[in-house]
Amino acid sequence: MTAVCLMFRGTAIFALVPLFLLSFCERTQPDASPAHHPPFDAAYLLLSPAEMASLPLAIRFEAPMGAEQGALTYNAQPFRVTRHLGDDLNGIGGWNSDLGDPVYAAATGKVIYAGWPSDGWGNMVVLAHRVPDAAAPEGWRVYQAVYAHLDKIQVKHSDVVPRGTPLGTVGTAGGKYLAHLHFEIRESRAVYPGPGYSDFPLDRVSPATFQKERGKSGDSVVQKAPERVIP
Ligand SMILES: [Zn+2]
Repeated sequence: MTAVCLMFRGTAIFALVPLFLLSFCERTQPDASPAHHPPFDAAYLLLSPAEMASLPLAIRFEAPMGAEQGALTYNAQPFRVTRHLGDDLNGIGGWNSDLGDPVYAAATGKVIYAGWPSDGWGNMVVLAHRVPDAAAPEGWRVYQAVYAHLDKIQVKHSDVVPRGTPLGTVGTAGGKYLAHLHFEIRESRAVYPGPGYSDFPLDRVSPATFQKERGKSGDSVVQKAPERVIP
């Protein structure tokens, strides 16, 4: 269809293709404009106790674009630097070299938001996780992982996704930034986009620290060489 539309566009001036055909083609072009995304519903949404209790357990968290120790990514703006509420993860090529790179679910979770809440956020996916915590009354706490400025979203609301599932691709929030992944961890039952910067940490925790504390031991560092066994 796109090829047909392009053909019509190319010949429109010379062949006097009726204007209605052009307007039809405009309407059927792939929709990449932020203006076409429905705004975030401002209603204050809370996960119900039943929804929280039915969330998948997330035992282990991984880096969503690959491990820093594996030299796949770097953190251009860590948590709480210049009032930042998340980590800005980039591919090591810098600039826009990571545009379109896959973004993976850091842990098994449920999609509680997938959309374009505002032009500052761009495409955003939020996963909710039930994370074991012996100190909590129920033995777990609910955390959310926020993936923002995405180029494409590949999951939809209510999907339950295992750790490592592609959620979307690294983007620029419609050309607002150089491509990177804004990644946050929130301890919250409220579903809302919120700010990306604040004088206070609000309900956010350091994503890098949170992930490292819950990563598999030795998972993302060079493994120690096996010791020689002397018979
Ligand atoms: Zn950021």
